[in-house]
Amino acid sequence: MKILLIEDERALREALAEALAGEGFVVVQAETGAAGLAAFRAAPPDLILLDLMLPEMGGIEVCRSIRMESRVPIIMVTAKASEADRISGLDLGADDYVTKPFSSRELIARIRAVMRRAELGANTPALGARLRIAEAEVDLEGQRVLRNGVAVHLKPKAFQLLAFLIENAGRVYTREQLLDKVWGYDYAGETRTVDVHMHALRQAMEAIPAKPVALQTVRGIGYVLRRPA
Ligand code: CA
Repeated sequence: MKILLIEDERALREALAEALAGEGFVVVQAETGAAGLAAFRAAPPDLILLDLMLPEMGGIEVCRSIRMESRVPIIMVTAKASEADRISGLDLGADDYVTKPFSSRELIARIRAVMRRAELGANTPALGARLRIAEAEVDLEGQRVLRNGVAVHLKPKAFQLLAFLIENAGRVYTREQLLDKVWGYDYAGETRTVDVHMHALRQAMEAIPAKPVALQTVRGIGYVLRRPA
């Protein structure tokens, strides 16, 4: 498991890195917010430890930027115990916080707790996040699909089908299963309904709808949504 540690105080950063490495974590260190964001984008970690008080680009800004792209667990590290810092950190989408000074034992317990929670919710995309899928962006909260920044018209059921496939990305479903999951057990329609909606989604989202990169057909079985890791 890889942890990205964004902390400008060198002595603290190195001591933390050593303690975490001793627990078997792979630690990537970043000294500034900008370096941390670059490291996050270059190779997404499993968890981020983010100092609140960083020079230039502060921890709040870093947290906000990361949350626009990912729901990777973030633990904020703060020197101030005041409620305002605490609340702003959590409102920004941080998963937890620790207040300096803290023991490495306490920190590691927090990391393990946050990781457990993250694993439970791993397939639930962040609210408000826009997911890039094929040529389109999906706004889950707004229930919209955008192509080149413009909302595409989709029937509500097509969006529900898409949302279901996103939530269960990588799992293959038969047409019957999708009818059950998205339309409901008492829906009296035909499996062709699924094909029609899938066709609409491909038209909306894929560069070449006949050769989809994300909304794929699994021959003889059904459909799967594939997303790059
Ligand atoms: Ca600092």
